[in-house]
Amino acid sequence: MIKLQGIAAASGIVIGPAYRIGKEEMVVSKDPIREEEIPLQIQLFEEALIKTRREIIDLQKKIGAEMGQDEAQIFDAHLLVLEDRMLIEDVISRLKKDRVNVAFIFSEVMKKYIAVFSKIEDEYLKERIADINDVGRRILRHLLGKERRGLSDLKEKVIVVAHDLSPSDTAAMHKQSVSAFVTDVGGKTTHTAIMAKSLEIPAVVGTAEATLRIKGGEILIVDGNLGMVIISPDETTLQEYRQEEEKQRGIIEKFWSAKDLPAITRDQHHVVVNANIEFPEEVSSVKLHGAKGIGLYRTEFFYMNRKDLPTEEEHYEAYKYVAKEMNPHSVIVRTLDLGGDKFLSQFALPHEMEPFLGWRAIRFCLARPEMFKLQLRAILRASVHGNLKLMYPMISGIEELIQANKILKEAKQELRSKQIPFNDEIKVGAMIEVPSAAITADILAKEANFFSIGTNDLIQYSLAVDRANEKVAYLYEPAHPAVLRLIKNIIEAAHSAGIPVGMCGEMAGDPSFALVLLGLGLDEFSMPPQVIPELKYVLRQISLSQAQEIAQEALCLSTGKEIAEFTRLRLKGILR
Ligand code: PEP
Ligand code: MG
Repeated sequence: MIKLQGIAAASGIVIGPAYRIGKEEMVVSKDPIREEEIPLQIQLFEEALIKTRREIIDLQKKIGAEMGQDEAQIFDAHLLVLEDRMLIEDVISRLKKDRVNVAFIFSEVMKKYIAVFSKIEDEYLKERIADINDVGRRILRHLLGKERRGLSDLKEKVIVVAHDLSPSDTAAMHKQSVSAFVTDVGGKTTHTAIMAKSLEIPAVVGTAEATLRIKGGEILIVDGNLGMVIISPDETTLQEYRQEEEKQRGIIEKFWSAKDLPAITRDQHHVVVNANIEFPEEVSSVKLHGAKGIGLYRTEFFYMNRKDLPTEEEHYEAYKYVAKEMNPHSVIVRTLDLGGDKFLSQFALPHEMEPFLGWRAIRFCLARPEMFKLQLRAILRASVHGNLKLMYPMISGIEELIQANKILKEAKQELRSKQIPFNDEIKVGAMIEVPSAAITADILAKEANFFSIGTNDLIQYSLAVDRANEKVAYLYEPAHPAVLRLIKNIIEAAHSAGIPVGMCGEMAGDPSFALVLLGLGLDEFSMPPQVIPELKYVLRQISLSQAQEIAQEALCLSTGKEIAEFTRLRLKGILR
């Protein structure tokens, strides 16, 4: 029995046989060609591009139908690589100059591209290496006439073990045949990990040596909760985990039974459980998982994977669709939150030393009032089709909120003068994700109809821990006393001013922290749709007074670890 520790990428426990995928080596020989063969080689290259394009579009359609547009959209980046004029021209001009086979030239050009991207100090662009690699291998396979090794052909249920899995490998997996996966490399936030969560299968990534230790065929235990893989477990461990697996299956069924019930505590206290989305197509998943409304509609994904800027009509159509679909439930559209880890190529922003502290979100929008107003007009126009609200990201003080509201007023005036209808009473909220906003929440409450706490950023700013840096990930503690005190202050200030307060950071979807948040008086919890059934179930098992007592006790503890352990145990007690 061997235990491997990795990173818990998607939760759940699975026991099953390993199916190991070796690294796909592609040997490309260098063969000289004659001048008259050049047109034929160009034709081969063009055909490979066309075949790859067809393959990706087919895959995209399949993924769109099976997993939703969110996942399917990842392949837009792959299609863009195929259209890259520079890459295509580079290959053709080298082919003419060097007179060797196009497969060899193409693989050399790909290596050059990957080397260039690897040197860029930008996490978002670095992530694109996986996309380039993925598309590059597809094209090369066609140039070499190789058949694709298909994960979609697996017949029995297996645990896939691979050095790495590309997003398209993950997307091609069928839930019916893959029960979990384990990789040597990767982190919590890679596309592959995100897809595992959508597929709702456990995944452990970054084990470093899974493919060295696992040959294939042996029994594995994948513990996606602890990020652990046990190879060939002994009988006692197997028994323990079988019981645990059975228990988890029962628990998941219990969670699903609560998904369409009201989010109400044992002592009849109502809260709102909403979903976070990034694409309009996710509305179906929101409904499937039993959310009331949408607590965070991130709009920056609109701007990604494209060269131009979205028009007012595009914004309007998307918001209108979501508003209509969710009506009468509310949809909170967050205005553009560009910058930090959300880099958009259209704006060609100057390099910044500290992008998370730099020209991002509302700061950027206030500096570009016309672009900001375009989005505000679209939201206002769509507001007549349902229950739309809007909120501004990264508010750090009252001046920004006043200035943003002034631009909103101008947008309203423009629509009024053209007699375009909109909801004049639209609710306007501020995201509280900067410590200065959390501390001055009482001041901000005067200019906002609601608050939404963005803990993903609030934690990184209050604890001085870059949310994207794995080296300091151990310090990124949602339950740190400083974070809890800030949340308490925000909720108290909002309630004194008579406005509701929600949370749309990842913390809201963590059941053990939710106990504390409920006890602190949070009105609305917004999270990825997949988490909703579990959270609703948990909220229905507890009374508000019990949660208040848990929150009080948590606030008396000194460290994030103590609080996390304390809430974990209390949750265990409640779910028993
Ligand atoms: C947050 O910061 O908690 C949040 C919800 O916004 P984002 O993750 O998009 O920065
Ligand atoms: Mg944020």
